[in-house]
Amino acid sequence: MTAFDEHGKAGKDPGQWKSRLVAARPVLITLALVLAALFATGALSLFQALGAYAVVLAVVLVGRGSTVATREVLLSPERNRTRTSDPLVDAVVAGLPDPVIVLDRNSRVVAFNAKASAIAPALNRGEPASLALRVPEVVEAIRTASASGKPRHVEFSERVPVERWFDVHIIPVDIAGDVRTAQASLMLITFHDLTPLRRVEEMRADFVANASHELRTPLAALSGFIDTLQGPARDDVAARERFMGIMKEQASRMARLIDDLLSLSRIELNAHVRPQAPVDLVAVVRQVADALQVMAADRHVTIAIQASVDRLIVPGDRDELTRVFENLIENALKYGAAGKRVDITLDRRESADGRDEAVIVVRDYGQGIAVEHLPRLTERFYRIDVGQSRAEGGTGLGLALVKHIINRHRGRLTLESTLGSGAAFTVRLHI
Ligand code: ADP
Repeated sequence: MTAFDEHGKAGKDPGQWKSRLVAARPVLITLALVLAALFATGALSLFQALGAYAVVLAVVLVGRGSTVATREVLLSPERNRTRTSDPLVDAVVAGLPDPVIVLDRNSRVVAFNAKASAIAPALNRGEPASLALRVPEVVEAIRTASASGKPRHVEFSERVPVERWFDVHIIPVDIAGDVRTAQASLMLITFHDLTPLRRVEEMRADFVANASHELRTPLAALSGFIDTLQGPARDDVAARERFMGIMKEQASRMARLIDDLLSLSRIELNAHVRPQAPVDLVAVVRQVADALQVMAADRHVTIAIQASVDRLIVPGDRDELTRVFENLIENALKYGAAGKRVDITLDRRESADGRDEAVIVVRDYGQGIAVEHLPRLTERFYRIDVGQSRAEGGTGLGLALVKHIINRHRGRLTLESTLGSGAAFTVRLHI
């Protein structure tokens, strides 16, 4: 490694001179032969030949023009300016996946990659990093890391234009290997984007809060009715019958919720394993529609199934796929009852990538879904009208389950809707 004194000059390290001599050996030998020949032929005097050789030798030892020399300039002690950068450092920094900035010992920018300029667009070579990195914690950490030569680690967040979190490591790199000063030759600043991790943490916290809230509501109703039955309504037979009915409904709502939560976590746990048992979707859809006939009749809705094939076999998990069509058809009956009709079509088609796929559409002609809700509809507990969902016995987890099951089957769920004209949910599964 090249040695530098505290002024950044090449030191008197014999190892360093030796390595330069070794690197320049072919040039020096050729030159010696050429000069000897010129001296022998009388073209040059001994003095001229030795003089020329001495000049070239001096250039080699000072090392101008080499990568090593470039690094010397990079580490230059000239306190006010970083004149150039090292192509090697540039190439390494450009290839790193995270935003990276390299500073010199005066905290001036030496190199940075495109990812770094995306988060700090004002970055400029040769300028103090503090001009581009306006976060006080980061600027202070750079200062202390530079002064102490010890690595620093800070986290910061920015709110504009979107909320983002970063983990910043400032690593002093002592290329010079100089033990006489604590100050580092270069400082490597890496930024790690924590935003996806934080979002998942937030989602988990929201999920727990939502699940607890959903469970607490029926629980509060249940304990309220128990108090009433133990107190004022103790001897009121009619009230007891009515309250018992409500309590049963609330208890089954809690059971449904727990059931959906457990199903979701089981599906998530197995998300990486694609189910492979052969499942006939025509049979599944017919069976689900039959089971929902009573509900359809209650709402005066007709379920019509049109299958272009007798059997539509896909690799999958029969129970999970049954759950998908139960949820979609039930939703069509609950939220699309006004349309009086639910159409289900089953087809075998060629997908965009040339493979055969099963395409199942569940279409209703009811209230439809406003466009702003479409992207969020498969989020857990997302409901357009919480009151309506609760009144229908919904948990807000149905479409989240549908999405997770279809993802596990490596299929696709798409949704089209026009407010007031119904909704169509399309499931595509590879055959
Ligand atoms: P829920 O248990 O509330 O039915 P889902 O996840 O199945 O939960 O559905 C989420 C929300 O999507 C529902 O509350 C409802 O507002 C809306 N939704 C689902 N299907 C339809 C549909 N066919 N027509 C209109 N709105 C729908």
